[in-house]
Amino acid sequence: MDAQSRYNKIKEKKLNIDASRGKPDANQTALSLGLLDTLTDCPTSIVNYGGLDGIPEMKQMFADMLEMNPNEIIVGGNASLTMMFDAVQTLIQSGIWQCGKTKIICPSPGYDRHFAICQHLGLEMITIPMTTQGPDMEMVIKLAADPNVGGIWCVPVFSNPQGYVYSNETIKALASMQAANPNFKILWDNAYAIHHFRGRRPQILNILKECENHGNDTRPIIFASFSKISLPSAAVACMAGSASGMEVFRKRLAIQSIGPDKVNQLRHVRFFKDLQGIETHMKKHAEILRPKFELVTKMLSQQTDSFTDPDGGYFISLETAPGKAKKIQTMCKEAGVLFTDAGATFPYGKDPHDTNLRIPPTFLSMEELEQAMEVLCLAMELA
Ligand code: PMP
Repeated sequence: MDAQSRYNKIKEKKLNIDASRGKPDANQTALSLGLLDTLTDCPTSIVNYGGLDGIPEMKQMFADMLEMNPNEIIVGGNASLTMMFDAVQTLIQSGIWQCGKTKIICPSPGYDRHFAICQHLGLEMITIPMTTQGPDMEMVIKLAADPNVGGIWCVPVFSNPQGYVYSNETIKALASMQAANPNFKILWDNAYAIHHFRGRRPQILNILKECENHGNDTRPIIFASFSKISLPSAAVACMAGSASGMEVFRKRLAIQSIGPDKVNQLRHVRFFKDLQGIETHMKKHAEILRPKFELVTKMLSQQTDSFTDPDGGYFISLETAPGKAKKIQTMCKEAGVLFTDAGATFPYGKDPHDTNLRIPPTFLSMEELEQAMEVLCLAMELA
């Protein structure tokens, strides 16, 4: 049967598969349901107000995970995205960044929600290319010579969507480069720090230490979260940085809240215990994730070699023939398989060459994933 006939036949099946977002599957979230049984008792200090930047044990757990000092950690609520939004808004409100003037460097393809925050809060975005080693640093250094360039978004480990890991040269360059704007910020979203499913955890340089070594201690604002370790809707997030770098955020927090959800923090501390406990848990995620990523790469490789094959994270990045990504995504949609909108991985939803599609292998069952990839491969062939 030719490709068109196979595509028409699949269409008749009226599939209804949502492959649009990188969510853990039910087996993964089941790994953490034990969190709900950890609190038959709860100390008064936990259930009452106070402890604005988190309970000491939770700060320690994040510090161990990020190889930082607990006093550099501010524990937040369930989502790091909320903290990122708040951080950007705080920088604007305090006059450190200015709407309509400050521009943010956005290595792309990148995380759509980072771009959405900038767009929503009125910060202009500058699209620059990603490489396998991280952002194109020659361009970053050139752009940072402009005082209106206020910062850069970074996902240093298993970047969304490629799954690239920043090289130490990239990290050193980001930390040491001259920036004309004295308030240049690196928004360091370390969402996938320990989310490897093959081999060992990537060892990257500590961005804060590197920045401190060059007198740029207020440059990095670090984010991390348990969303893809425990339960996405009931996780714990943090932000981190030097004492002076965090000052503006701590001031805001003191007005904004009398204290975070310490009950959930205690749940996490009791359930995971320590870094070793988290690492053991992540191995269980890895066992679930690895076969899904392998299925996707195996099926894609029958059609193309323009895709990433990461050792961790939640996504695979696919490069279609120029001008074809939107068409392919639409064809998939018409056959009942929903992928993230083509263009979403670029600022303003504009992929200059219309080539990038983001594939999240995690949420679907192996059977659904196979069907989704069959449709995608057919659409690529036909487009
Ligand atoms: N950062 C990145 C790079 C992500 O891919 C995601 C989830 N897709 C998040 C942050 C969201 O994290 P949280 O659930 O903690 O808001």
